[in-house]
Amino acid sequence: MPATDGQHYDVVIVGAGLSGLAAAAALADQGIEAPVLEARNRLGGRILSFSAGGYDFDLGPSWIWPGQPHVAGLLAASGIAVFPQYATGALLHQLADGRIERHPGFGPMGNALRIQGGPGALIQALSQRLAPEQVRLGHTVRTLEKTANGLCLGVATPDGTVQISAGAVALAIPPRLASKIAFTPALPSDITRFLEQTPTWMAGHAKFLAIYDSPFWREQGLSGDAISRKGPLAEIHDISPPEAGPYALFGFVGLDAAQRTALAETAGGPSALIDAAQQQLVELFGDHAGQAQALKLQDWSREPFTALESDAAPLGQHPAYGMPLHLADSWSHRLSFIATETSREHGGLIEGALERAGAFVATIP
Ligand SMILES: Cc1cc2nc3c(=O)[nH]c(=O)nc-3n(C[C@H](O)[C@H](O)[C@H](O)COP(=O)(O)OP(=O)(O)OC[C@H]3O[C@@H](n4cnc5c(N)ncnc54)[C@H](O)[C@@H]3O)c2cc1C
Repeated sequence: MPATDGQHYDVVIVGAGLSGLAAAAALADQGIEAPVLEARNRLGGRILSFSAGGYDFDLGPSWIWPGQPHVAGLLAASGIAVFPQYATGALLHQLADGRIERHPGFGPMGNALRIQGGPGALIQALSQRLAPEQVRLGHTVRTLEKTANGLCLGVATPDGTVQISAGAVALAIPPRLASKIAFTPALPSDITRFLEQTPTWMAGHAKFLAIYDSPFWREQGLSGDAISRKGPLAEIHDISPPEAGPYALFGFVGLDAAQRTALAETAGGPSALIDAAQQQLVELFGDHAGQAQALKLQDWSREPFTALESDAAPLGQHPAYGMPLHLADSWSHRLSFIATETSREHGGLIEGALERAGAFVATIP
């Protein structure tokens, strides 16, 4: 019989990504200290950075956009500034045969903005509003049972399985991962179908970073934006800090997860993709691109608390997200799904995670 932690909580939040932490911070502001159970040994979920030369470079999201009220509200409340995505100069277009065309003017990122300190600054600001020990790292929720007076979570911890009792639970985890929790009684089939069929935004993708001592592309009148039909990087941008170096380019890998695995198997390990990506940067931006201070590849399809096998294929179009209203609250309003994919208007985005956290907290008396 698994141990219990001996307490009953009004609310428990599962997942310490942006949606879970935003919900916990808003509840803390109302005097409700909701435990946050997080499977990984870190905060942030899909928000992750790589530190080099004193700067945190994004391995997950990088951009926000004007017209995102929840992001704007959190930035203002946290005193965090934004700056425009660097897009001054020409855009490169690499054709499938490797030829490179230079196009003047606009980059593909339009009016994208970046957050001072990266999206990790949001995670830090939110976590500072929580009590010490409120987030329990290394706590993976495996089972969820509806009981006579609430819900009971079965949680795998480094010290064994514990049971945690709650009045209400917010699942701040991607719907597909939620479908892997064993629910007793089983959820209605339309909810299970929704959870299984909702792809996790960007879960099949990989992001490549190259960090440099100078912005040599800018010196050639290039913005750092590039689109390639040759690959392995399909889309490249400047991800440097706003004021000074170190400078950096990042690219979304154009190969899907199966192709990345096949390349690693046939070409001697994961470094083959890193080498090919750096070589492509040399083709596009010149020899200086071969002299990176640091290189980093983040393959999200290999992260079990983000991606399932069904997420391996990259999503072409942005899916139509949002939890159908009649499914949004289950088990007599005790169980809510609040990850970004459950947002109808901003599903997949940082804004969607914050919007859903706010909507959940508004339901708590
Ligand atoms: C490469 C990449 C680029 C992106 N670019 C952008 C961008 O430019 N702009 C933008 O707005 N958005 C972007 N996104 C999306 C953005 O990252 C997400 O919208 C946001 O981070 C989602 O937050 P979330 O809390 O809903 O989910 P998550 O960040 O996925 O958090 C879920 C948390 O739950 C935990 N968890 C999972 N299962 C369990 C379990 N059983 N028990 C306990 N804990 C569990 C996970 O470890 C994780 O910490 C990008 C994402 C990626 C990967």
